[in-house]
Amino acid sequence: MKKKLIAGNWKMNGGLSANEALIHALRSGLPATVACQVALCVPSVYLAQVQSLLTGSGFDLGAQDLSAYEGGAYTGEVSAAMLRDYGVRYCLVGHSERRQHHGETDAMVALKAQRALACGITPIVCVGETLAERESGAMEAVVKRQLAAVIHVNGHCISEIMVAYEPVWAIGSGKTASAAQAQEVHALLRAQLKAASSQADRVSILYGGSMNAANAAELLAQPDVGGGLVGGASLKAPDFLSIIAAAR
Ligand code: PEP
Repeated sequence: MKKKLIAGNWKMNGGLSANEALIHALRSGLPATVACQVALCVPSVYLAQVQSLLTGSGFDLGAQDLSAYEGGAYTGEVSAAMLRDYGVRYCLVGHSERRQHHGETDAMVALKAQRALACGITPIVCVGETLAERESGAMEAVVKRQLAAVIHVNGHCISEIMVAYEPVWAIGSGKTASAAQAQEVHALLRAQLKAASSQADRVSILYGGSMNAANAAELLAQPDVGGGLVGGASLKAPDFLSIIAAAR
C-alpha cells in the first residue's frame, strides 16, 4: 500500500531562526522509524535554507505555489524549473487562499499543475468548497469542477498528481470536517479520477483543514484519505510530530 503523505503548509510564516528551531525540534523528536512520508511546503525565499536543514532527514521539500509560465517577463513569479533547482518534490497548486486572494482560476491551476509535472514536481492540487457552497448543496459540483479542469489539461499524466481536499470553511477555522464528511468527498474525487484514468488508484488524496493532533488519527483512517495537508499545526513541532505518528 502507498505510504501516506503528511505535508506541512507553513503559509507566509517563518524566519531564518524560527525555521532552524522548528526543523531542529522536528528532527530531534522524530522516532527512528516513521510509517509515512513527510514534506514541508515553505515560502520560496526559505527553500535554500530548508533544503540544507533537511539534508539526511528523509523529509521532502515542498513549495506553496509556482508560475503557470515557463520563464521570462513575469516579475515576481517563480518557475517550476527554479523550484526543481532547490530539490522541490511537491508543490501546492490552487490553494484556496490563492484562489481567493490572487484570483486563481481553475484554468490557471490546471496550467500550474502542468508546469510542475513537466519539471518532475508532484503538484498537490487543492480543491474545496466554501461554507455557502456546501450549505446551498453545491459542494459536489464545485470540487468536481475544480478537479475536472486539472484532468482536462493533464489527462495523460493525471495519475502523477496528488489532490488535497480542503473544505474552505475548515481551513484555519478550528472546524474540521468530520471523518465521514471527508471520506464522502474523497470517495467522489476518487471516482472522478478513476473515470479519467485506469491508474487513478495511484493518486493520493490528502485531507486538509484544521487537522490536529487530536483529530488526525480518525481522519487518516478513512479508506480514501491518503494523508494530510496541515497548516497551523505544522508550525508546532509537538503537534506536527503527533500527526506524523498518527499516519500509518
Ligand atoms: C492549509 O492551509 O492548507 C490548512 C489546511 O490550514 P489549517 O491546517 O491551518 O487549517
